[in-house]
Amino acid sequence: MDFIDLKAQQRLIRDDLNRRISKVLDESHYIMGPEVDELEKKLAEFCGRKYCLSCSSGTDALVIPLMAYGLKETDAVFVPSFTFFASAESVVLAGGTPVFVDVDETFNISIDSLEKCIQNVLAEGRLKPAGIIPVDLFGLSADYERLLPIAEKYDLFVLEDAAQGFGGSLNGKRNGAFGNVSATSFFPAKPLGCYGDGGAIFTDDEDLYNRMKSIRVHGHGSDKYDNVRMGVNGRLDTIQAAILLSKLEIFENELEKRQQVAAWYNEQLEGFFGLPIIPDGCFSAWAQYTLKAENREQRDRIIAGMKGKNIPVMIYYPVPLHMQTAFKFLNCAAETLPVCKELAQQVFSLPMHPYLEKEDVTEICTALKAVCAWV
Ligand SMILES: *Cc1c(COP(=O)(O)O)cnc(C)c1O
Repeated sequence: MDFIDLKAQQRLIRDDLNRRISKVLDESHYIMGPEVDELEKKLAEFCGRKYCLSCSSGTDALVIPLMAYGLKETDAVFVPSFTFFASAESVVLAGGTPVFVDVDETFNISIDSLEKCIQNVLAEGRLKPAGIIPVDLFGLSADYERLLPIAEKYDLFVLEDAAQGFGGSLNGKRNGAFGNVSATSFFPAKPLGCYGDGGAIFTDDEDLYNRMKSIRVHGHGSDKYDNVRMGVNGRLDTIQAAILLSKLEIFENELEKRQQVAAWYNEQLEGFFGLPIIPDGCFSAWAQYTLKAENREQRDRIIAGMKGKNIPVMIYYPVPLHMQTAFKFLNCAAETLPVCKELAQQVFSLPMHPYLEKEDVTEICTALKAVCAWV
């Protein structure tokens, strides 16, 4: 059994993929070919934003907007500590300073912790609050109804990290459309993935869009040989755009299938584990189906037991960012973010993709219950 089965998906669209890739090879527009343009239009429409800028990875999709904001080392950007490394790495790469925030039982940024952290930074006076990077972890939108008013109150920009959330929505508004600017990733294992690295940035702000477009290609100006700022080499390959166009056609259908798989898991695990929390109005992209063990010992038993039954189980994330070696320089004590610290010892994720059958889910759940000696 695969944790994510990309082969089943490929079998469905193989002819269309071949046709689109052959067209790119025939036309040889490998950089910024017509597929890139077409994809950007379709993605902007998909999530209801004015502008989409495709780019070379989810990490660059975070770094480029942060570079466009012109961060200084004294600028604080608030990031949840329970997420993938790049959510905070991007802040340092762009010249700012991440400030870690705790999460709540949804696995997403805790709004209470966020406001406390902002007030701490203001009271301390060393850094100046500049922005927030909420993450739509495991496919679930952050609590934007409570978060956006706080951003406004303290005059902070909001950069949505929708790398795992693309395809999900909150009250009918799609992830990728929250805050000033949003980033997503097309890494193969994400809900919408290509066959290599890729990403996209979304915004409604024309001025920000123009600055980001310049940064994407070495800070170019209107004259190709006059570079007006520092930038990166951050374009999406035409071949990856062609692959994404093909995958986008079946994406809505795959999102529905993910709902079904999650519902089967919920049915069979209800009463055994606390189920993933999906607040009212949220439609998760189900990038992961993540449960909490009682403690580290039980999780170790689950991982070993499932391995023995050849069922892949992953841990996202075993070390919260504020406890990682690379962020030691921020001097954020482990105990200051207790929920992140505890979750890192408890969480584990079960196989999740649109092509899981009910029998697969039953096999996984039966094995899990046996490993926990519940049946
Ligand atoms: C995957 C991921 C990224 C980075 O995306 P890449 O395409 O791998 O660079 C950033 N943030 C989160 C939350 C992610 O899951």
